[in-house]
Amino acid sequence: MSLFNGLEEAARPNLGQEMHDFAASLFPICRSITGKGIRETLARIETRIPLDAYDVPSGTKVFDWTVPKEWNIRDAYIADVGGRRVVDFQKCNLHVLNYSVPIDERMPLDRLKAHLFTLPEYPDWIPYRTSYYKEDWGFCLAHRQMTQLKDGEYQVRIDSTLEDGCLTYGECFLPGRSGDEILISCHACHPSLANDNLSGVTVATFLAKHLAGHDLRYSYRFLFIPGTIGAITWLARNRETAGRIRHGLVLTCIGDAGGFHYKKSRRGNAEIDRAAAHVLRHCGEPAKVLEFSPYGYDERQYCSPGFNLPVGCLMRSVWGSFPEYHTSADNLDFIKPSSLANSLRVCATILDVLENNQSYQNTLPYGEPQLGRRGLYGSEAGGEEIMARLWVLNLSDGQHSLLDIADQSGIVFSRIHAAAELLCQKGLLSVAGEDRVKTKMQDAARHKTNSQNQ
Ligand code: ZN
Repeated sequence: MSLFNGLEEAARPNLGQEMHDFAASLFPICRSITGKGIRETLARIETRIPLDAYDVPSGTKVFDWTVPKEWNIRDAYIADVGGRRVVDFQKCNLHVLNYSVPIDERMPLDRLKAHLFTLPEYPDWIPYRTSYYKEDWGFCLAHRQMTQLKDGEYQVRIDSTLEDGCLTYGECFLPGRSGDEILISCHACHPSLANDNLSGVTVATFLAKHLAGHDLRYSYRFLFIPGTIGAITWLARNRETAGRIRHGLVLTCIGDAGGFHYKKSRRGNAEIDRAAAHVLRHCGEPAKVLEFSPYGYDERQYCSPGFNLPVGCLMRSVWGSFPEYHTSADNLDFIKPSSLANSLRVCATILDVLENNQSYQNTLPYGEPQLGRRGLYGSEAGGEEIMARLWVLNLSDGQHSLLDIADQSGIVFSRIHAAAELLCQKGLLSVAGEDRVKTKMQDAARHKTNSQNQ
């Protein structure tokens, strides 16, 4: 089975545009770590893939944290004395400090300014700011706009609620032949930001939809969660499930035009780390592998020392390294249909490696088997195809996995895997576990024969 081949079929010319359209449909929703915005987002994801939403009440203890009150917002604005809205939440939801407590007051510009956030270095962009764990209120706006505000009184209104409610997250579980799981996690808690948040949500949604049509070795668990508190909440409620995670990826900032970055898991040499590095080396786009650090997205939680799960983070441009990060410039123009489609392809290829990576045993390990006689050495095969067969035969001693062989030979995994399947069909290779039993029996038989000959 090759997920990659399946994806090639699915890679119709408008796939990237379909993905972009899906991100665009989620873009206007005012999301936060709790509230109606994330629930509406999950409801839209559920129109494409099977999804279970879980509500965790405010006040629930989750490890060292507490599920916060639920935040919802209907409207917000700053109006001048004439009643004209000079800053309007209805035009852009980034205008409100996310998690702002309600306010309805008249105040002079001087007092208001203490609650205004701008980016002087990018005077036309609106910053994205939050205050989840400290009760506050504020507005974010373009620096140019703030400098144009005239002295005088302003009516400031934020029609929000911060009350006991729930934290909601979504889970899509796809059962495979094994109870061992692959975790795909993305945050879905940012309002109108495209690369940071919606690109991950979109790639994860399309990836789940793609996988749902396949016979899978692993079971897959896709999480659509609020950042940090969502991952901590999920881990606190799923300690047992977490133990079944064999490989995992956090997807974030994966729709822009930049090259790929893969941040290794805390373990540093987990199979997911090697599979991601291998696929990126062969993906045809610029790509870098980064060492683990305890900062970034929810890999921080999955890789906390108590769990130490083999979960890495796949990105294009690294969060915080591009000026559009956490601003209104991280919009639908910043993410590209072709980037989204290629990110989906890279993710499916990494999963394809994990699905098919195993060790084999050469059934004729004494000298090279005669390939020509079996039609495996002819000119109809390319040079690299023959090299792939030779590498697989030579290194299939039960100790080397196909990924080991792909890395050592420099040949892409899909070609090494195809060679292994062909050699299995020809009887020259068998799955290592099965063969180990067979080899032991052969060895025992040989030993017996040798003893008899002595
Ligand atoms: Zn962010």
